[in-house]
Parts: sequence; structure tokens; C-alpha cells
Amino acid sequence: MPLRYNYCPHCNKRITFRIEFDDVDTSLYPAPFYLVHKDVSCGKISTFYVDSQLHIAVIEPEKKEPKMGRAIKTVETT
Ligand SMILES: [Zn+2]
Repeated sequence: MPLRYNYCPHCNKRITFRIEFDDVDTSLYPAPFYLVHKDVSCGKISTFYVDSQLHIAVIEPEKKEPKMGRAIKTVETT
């Protein structure tokens, strides 16, 4: 399970989370998942998109509804 580092688009704090191919719709890249920043001063949700290498391609500060494909999974920061 690869550990990823990034920054929360709401509070700009450094975040870590785990993402694997099972968490996203691999038929549709960039593939979205929801990320909850588990922090008492934040707690906000964003939509992150990964490419076919599970690298973060796009970050949206909102909870984007899926246009097509399966339901979007929610991942929490570690
Ligand atoms: Zn945050």
C-alpha cells in the first residue's frame, strides 16, 4: 500500500495517506477519491485524482460528484 505525501488544499498542512488501485476506478484516469483530513483544526474533505501510477494528478478542494463510473471511495489521512 503506497504511502503518499501531499498538502491539504484547505489548511495547507502536510498530509500523508495510503492509496491503492483497489480504492479507485482504474478504468477512468485521472481516478478520483475523497480525502478527509483527519485533523481537529481541519477535518475537511477534498477530491484527489490519481494517474495510472497512483501519483496525485489533480486536487480539488471540494467533494466532486462522480460523472461516471463507480462510487467514489473515501480515504482518511494517516
Ligand atoms: Zn486540512
